[in-house]
Amino acid sequence: MAENTVHWADVVANDVLNRGNRHVIATGVTPSGPIHIGNMREVVTADAVRRALKDHGADVRLHYIADSYDPLRKVYPFLPEDYASHVGKPISEIPDPDGCCANYAEHFLQPFLNAMEKLGIETDVTRADQMYKRGDYADAIQTALINEDRIAQRLAEVTGRTMPQNWSPFNPLCGQCDRITMTAVTGYHGKRVDYKCQCGYQGTADISKGSGKLTWRVDWPARWKILNITVEPFGKDHAVAGGSYDTGTRIAKEIYDYEPPYPIPFEHIFLKGQGKMSSSAGVAISIQEMLDVVPPEVLRYLITRTKPEKHIDFDPGIPLLNLMDEYDKLNEADRSYELSHLPSSVSTKVPFRHMVTIVQIARNFDQVVETLRRSGYDIDDAGAIEQRAKNAENWLNKFAPSVVKFKVREKLPHAAKKLSPQQKKALNILADEMGREWTADALHAEIYRIAERVGADPKYVFEAIYIALLGTSSGPRAGWFLTSLSPNFIRERFKEASTTGNIRWCIS
Ligand SMILES: [Zn+2]
Ligand SMILES: [Zn+2]
Repeated sequence: MAENTVHWADVVANDVLNRGNRHVIATGVTPSGPIHIGNMREVVTADAVRRALKDHGADVRLHYIADSYDPLRKVYPFLPEDYASHVGKPISEIPDPDGCCANYAEHFLQPFLNAMEKLGIETDVTRADQMYKRGDYADAIQTALINEDRIAQRLAEVTGRTMPQNWSPFNPLCGQCDRITMTAVTGYHGKRVDYKCQCGYQGTADISKGSGKLTWRVDWPARWKILNITVEPFGKDHAVAGGSYDTGTRIAKEIYDYEPPYPIPFEHIFLKGQGKMSSSAGVAISIQEMLDVVPPEVLRYLITRTKPEKHIDFDPGIPLLNLMDEYDKLNEADRSYELSHLPSSVSTKVPFRHMVTIVQIARNFDQVVETLRRSGYDIDDAGAIEQRAKNAENWLNKFAPSVVKFKVREKLPHAAKKLSPQQKKALNILADEMGREWTADALHAEIYRIAERVGADPKYVFEAIYIALLGTSSGPRAGWFLTSLSPNFIRERFKEASTTGNIRWCIS
């Protein structure tokens, strides 16, 4: 980002401040399945705006609402078949499929709350089922019931759809089958709503006790008013013409007499080559998987560096290394850095890319530290180094393409027999040079000079180095690679490689 452009979060903050100095930012998700990094865009976007507003002197809070009272839509692939009997029930009222948490919603919500903590996102967490059960929605439901014709008329106008006869903004929870999706309102009086259910049951719901829920397009504007929400990021699907933000705006203004929140529509995160990230479609990387590989601030940076209206192509392979490098090189005054940085995070100057090489050379953590010391790195912060080494190992195991993986051979590889006389000569010279102290860059440059001396294209000298050590024709950047290994080991190996094959014509 050019230095003279204003960061998108500051553009939003400036706009929002025109509306006042006190703000509540809302964000949320329906915890109906594993929450993936695509879902993270909403909370990180919200938190970036919270930080920006705070920097501009606003009084701002972030509110995280879990839509725990939404019904289970279908039996997702990750659910046992007998969950068919729960389809249509609110997810807060369904047992945890793994049996470890209080209910279904909590099971998928907890890992996300843990991830938010690691990402440094402080929020007031509210569960929608609790709001309904406490009666927080009671007034809003009553207003909606009294105005159901006016609401239906506005929904029809904005969406262009014909509303069904006897439409009601309220879906009672059936007292017999516990479903929220099969009931129809037959009348209401005060806080009581009569209904009949497709299961045959007829009953009366108390709107102040959670025995029902507003339909989504009314629930959203009702919630804005109940929680005093003034700013809200949401997926662009809600922002289309006639979408739920448009209907919400009409209902908020004309039914609830409430100014709708400042909207921040955002694009999706696409997983490289696989499209939009979605748990139900199996196209997703979980937040935990990602936090095993990159520091939380880099994950924040992935989102803060891009304007919300642009989609993010995420590729956890080599481009992830580039993302890590980019973050490491950021100036501390860079706004994306300020909006991503976590005061609690530990950092090391060891480039991630270099760590990926080192963990493939070292046999244990002590050797990692020893290798770094040899390469001239500050090794005082063992905690930060250990974290980066673990991240690098996890990346190699989960996402690294095979081209970056290598193994230093314990013995001279057979392929070394095919080295040309020039290649052997170059290795012989390099072996002698290992007696001196080298920095990675200087040694890398020296390889070019040696190539010139022996009259070979440098690429054949690099090839000889990789063949002698790895048995392959390519490998990690040679200067870094060689300074990461023990000089004695290299000297002996290169001497051996430079004489291999000669024996054959001695005895013939
Ligand atoms: Zn659980
Ligand atoms: Zn029923």
